[in-house]
Amino acid sequence: MIRFEQVSKQFPSGTFAVKSLDFEIKKGEFFVLIGPSGSGKTTTLKMINRLIELSNGWVLINEKKISDYDINELRWNIGYVLQQIALFPHMTIAENIAVVPELKNWGKEKIVARVDELLKMVGLDPKEYRNRKPNELSGGQQQRVGVLRALAADPEIILMDEPFSALDPFSREKLQDDMLEIQRKLKKTIVFVTHDIQEALRLGDRICLMKEGKIVQVGTPNEFLMNPANDFVREFVGSKKLTIHLNELMTPVSIGSKLFDTKTISLSTPVGEVFEHLALFEQIAVEDNGKQIGIISRQNALKVISQYLREGGQTHE
Ligand code: ADP
Ligand code: MG
Repeated sequence: MIRFEQVSKQFPSGTFAVKSLDFEIKKGEFFVLIGPSGSGKTTTLKMINRLIELSNGWVLINEKKISDYDINELRWNIGYVLQQIALFPHMTIAENIAVVPELKNWGKEKIVARVDELLKMVGLDPKEYRNRKPNELSGGQQQRVGVLRALAADPEIILMDEPFSALDPFSREKLQDDMLEIQRKLKKTIVFVTHDIQEALRLGDRICLMKEGKIVQVGTPNEFLMNPANDFVREFVGSKKLTIHLNELMTPVSIGSKLFDTKTISLSTPVGEVFEHLALFEQIAVEDNGKQIGIISRQNALKVISQYLREGGQTHE
């Protein structure tokens, strides 16, 4: 659906913001770009809707080079959500949401119906909210309206650049829930930038980790946790530093029950090593003094880890 081929961007200052990017985003995928500040995430995103021109390579959407699209047609068919949504302050919520449908000359009735449908989808009662001005909404609600505006004309692709990072944790979680629901219902292709690994693990079908303008690893959340490509990824994901104890991952087995015939580790195995085994085995047994005392399944371990990350658990050092 969206393909980067050998894409580089060098700014006139000489800085290479991104170098030789090669990756593909599938139709309907929730694709997360993550990495430290300055790693090239925003540049990558803005090249998709041609807010930044490429220096080298190609970006293709549905097998057609983006430079071959009419620029207005391209922009209208790609929703865009920024960290600081700029809702028009003098316009109502309904008018803000309807900007692109208006540009596309949808009929009045169709626009009204669409605005109400969208407001309902994120739990904002149209009767109450459609005629309000942006300053009569909380920050979280305004950001939700920003998301609705991007969705309004039913674009195939939505680009989101750290859309929730200015929100308090409660609103952020709510908006994340909205996004998961929207994605489940509408199956848009979403490219989502964040520097928050918990957000990435929660939302992403796949995650692309960038560093200094290059891709370090692309994979599913499971692959990131189970099989970090190198120390940078491990550090970023934090699995090496987790203070989780092995027995928090383990389900005890009762004495005398049948032995599990699988990879067996001792109770004193470091947690980092446990995950290396879980990359290879669906479940592993834990023994103490020569007796099996429990079992660790990959699925349960992932659940514990993501819960832990969400709660912002303490890390060593
Ligand atoms: P991120 O979004 O991951 O923080 P950016 O894509 O914004 O990273 O920036 C990547 C690199 O490109 C940084 O070194 C940044 O300073 C540089 N950069 C971004 N925009 C410009 C610009 N307009 N002119 C010059 N350098 C830029
Ligand atoms: Mg950025």
